[in-house]
Amino acid sequence: MFVGHYAAALAAKAAEPRAPLWAYVVGCQLVDIGWSGLIMTGAEKVAFDPSLPGSSLVLYEMPWTHSLPAALAWSVAAALAAGWTLKLPRRAMVFVGLAVSSHWLADFLVHRPDLELWFGGPKVGLGLWDAPVIEQAVEIGLVAVAGAAWTAQRIRAGLSAWPALVFLTFLVVLQIVALLLPGGGDAVGMGTSALAAYLLTAGVAALVERRGGSAATRLREAPSAA
Ligand SMILES: [Zn+2]
Repeated sequence: MFVGHYAAALAAKAAEPRAPLWAYVVGCQLVDIGWSGLIMTGAEKVAFDPSLPGSSLVLYEMPWTHSLPAALAWSVAAALAAGWTLKLPRRAMVFVGLAVSSHWLADFLVHRPDLELWFGGPKVGLGLWDAPVIEQAVEIGLVAVAGAAWTAQRIRAGLSAWPALVFLTFLVVLQIVALLLPGGGDAVGMGTSALAAYLLTAGVAALVERRGGSAATRLREAPSAA
């Protein structure tokens, strides 16, 4: 699961537009942003097996980012941090937290069993990576549906649809580039390129929303702020 995670950010933005898109975009990948850093330091472990279908990643140790309790802790911490730093209304804070926790659920769908239910507990994952065509269809399908919802929300709010269309196009291009890259490599290379992709996506999200006008949305909806 790569760009499929961003479906959660788009859905959250459609449902609660008062948080900036970039916050949801960072949120839905926050667990992997942490993972990128931790595999580079060796605190979490990854190996590569290019013969595996779907993804070459062998994620044999990642308790601090991808265990269920860790994912929940990241969600609560991110909601509180976003609420405090961005001065978000309570409902938007909750949606940032939901975007963060969506990451674990989406990973559960595609990962081979590597997600601990608790520290040292059994590992779960439905393994959709082993059916790569279906997995890609699910990712792009989720992004398309959530992207349509955000586009509709912008139109209802009297805003232009183009930022949504630009962002969706960017996500599709990103997924194609990721598919074309060879599997394998090392933890530092993987962590660096993953981190670069996450930060670039957050930057594009901030840019399209800024250029496309979101302040108007927030101002228009401010009276209903919780
Ligand atoms: Zn992940």
